[in-house]
Amino acid sequence: MNCKLNTPPPNFIRNIIIEDIKSGKHGGKVITRFPPEPNGYLHIGHAKSIVLNFGLALEFNGRCHLRFDDTNPTKEEEEYVLAIQEDVAWLGYYWGKHLYYASDYFDRLYDYAIELIKMGKAYVCDLSAEQIRQYRGTLKEPGKESPYRNRSVEENLDLFRRMRQGEFPDGARVLRAKIDMASGNLNMRDPVIYRIMHTSHHRTGNKWCIYPMYDFTHCLSDSIEGITHSICTLEFEDHRPLYDWFLDQLKVECHPQQIEFARLNLSYTVLSKRKLIQLVEGGFVSGWDDPRMPTISGIRRRGYSPASIRNFCERIGVAKRDSVVDIALLEHCVREDLNKTSPRVMAVLKPLKVVIENYPEGKTEELEAVNNPEDPSAGTRMVPFSREIYIEQDDFREDPPKKFFRLAPGKEVRLRYAYFITCHRVIKDEKTGEIIELRCTYDPETRGGAAPDGRKVRGTLHWVSAIHAVKAEVRLYDRLFSVPDPDHGKEGADFKTFINPRSLEVIHDCMVEPGLRDARPGDRYQFERIGYFCVDTVDSDPGHLVFNRTVPLRDTWAKIEKTHRKGK
Ligand code: ATP
Ligand code: MG
Repeated sequence: MNCKLNTPPPNFIRNIIIEDIKSGKHGGKVITRFPPEPNGYLHIGHAKSIVLNFGLALEFNGRCHLRFDDTNPTKEEEEYVLAIQEDVAWLGYYWGKHLYYASDYFDRLYDYAIELIKMGKAYVCDLSAEQIRQYRGTLKEPGKESPYRNRSVEENLDLFRRMRQGEFPDGARVLRAKIDMASGNLNMRDPVIYRIMHTSHHRTGNKWCIYPMYDFTHCLSDSIEGITHSICTLEFEDHRPLYDWFLDQLKVECHPQQIEFARLNLSYTVLSKRKLIQLVEGGFVSGWDDPRMPTISGIRRRGYSPASIRNFCERIGVAKRDSVVDIALLEHCVREDLNKTSPRVMAVLKPLKVVIENYPEGKTEELEAVNNPEDPSAGTRMVPFSREIYIEQDDFREDPPKKFFRLAPGKEVRLRYAYFITCHRVIKDEKTGEIIELRCTYDPETRGGAAPDGRKVRGTLHWVSAIHAVKAEVRLYDRLFSVPDPDHGKEGADFKTFINPRSLEVIHDCMVEPGLRDARPGDRYQFERIGYFCVDTVDSDPGHLVFNRTVPLRDTWAKIEKTHRKGK
């Protein structure tokens, strides 16, 4: 099932498509594709591309293919293929029967290469990789032609066939397109289109020992599938002439239009599989799905919802110029969605025991609590109250500063959904001086949180009943990097030196309300006054609940926007 976006915002790619439909180009059809290389897990940058490609196809009643660009057998694995499918589906998109692999086209690509050779437009070159680089020239200087450039068609056909048959070792020869060594575009200086690699492939096994290069594979795969709009990121702009060159030479029936857009960059984040894999392999995180990772599997485990990611991608829009998006905007989108959808519950992360001296021993009552003030249909639940409760250690100060409206000796506060209580005595550990218990009284007249005599209290605290509470582990995540641009730190410092040492705090003995005993992996909640949390899908089980903090409540983006509006 595919997810329809709200009203898609206008963008230049959408405008191109609208024009193409009007003019009848591609017969008015819209067929896009999302073409990941299965060499790592997808990240939030890929989500931008997925939402764009699937979103456009949906909007214009077309379709979007999921195609694995699996031309590099040394780095690709089946594990990634499965994870990528899971992630795209989780985001709310489905490719139906249109799941493809570039490796399915290896035979056809080989035939296309033979055709190029026959036309005198490709040749086998014996220069080493290093020599090819030297011959290539620079932006200022033209390249030098390879001494093998003018081999006869027959010799090229013979050598290419023998390359395929495995006669030559890795790197001995390559097949190159014969274009123009003096071209102002380096990509057009006789690019390599096939290389020898005696490596088995995760899908084709040992059938091939030559593999096609990305530029050759991509345009032809698009063409074979009848793609109309081939949308990619800006770094491929200089490859477009080559994309078109192959399709023009080979006189294919379908010539898709390549359109480039700016990739997503996020502050405090690295978005490159090459770098993410270093975090995984170096043990800086627990895996690709560590909740601090910007991978789809990481943010899913952290508790981000697919709707919030789709909404984020819609809001950042699609542009032609690179920019960095503030991660606060992503967190804002997550909060916005979770605020509407998450049930509220009470959880005490750092418990401090409170004994309510005038509350009868052994008595328990059930108090009604609202599940979601944003959504009346979510209803209410009953929460047990008793003589001993826990509140947050932070909600009590023995010597409170001026504007501290929470609990302090002699002060009265409201317990959410319950009663007013007043603190009379502080009990400390004799040896350490640490506060271990508070002695309070409650006012039975204030049930539900209001006093009949109209007296007001400033503070409202969350709490859980001590005998009813369920123990839980809570993992507080913060941004993985402590600087806004870890990719370009001081004097070329490695991005890993900017890892935030406080990106994870684990609290073991949290106390949560009893209803959470039945929480299932992946369930999302708002812990009142604290933030949004999600039951961990890997480490949580009924005997040992583990919650991940998705985001705290404080919305820095809303603040930025407000200041911005005021300034206008
Ligand atoms: P990385 O730089 O992380 O290795 P990639 O471009 O090599 O990414 P691919 O698997 O080739 O990863 O990408 C699949 C698709 O996702 C491509 O069309 C690519 O342009 C797009 N994509 C990758 N990163 C981003 C990003 N940060 N923003 C938008 N689109 C992206
Ligand atoms: Mg790539």
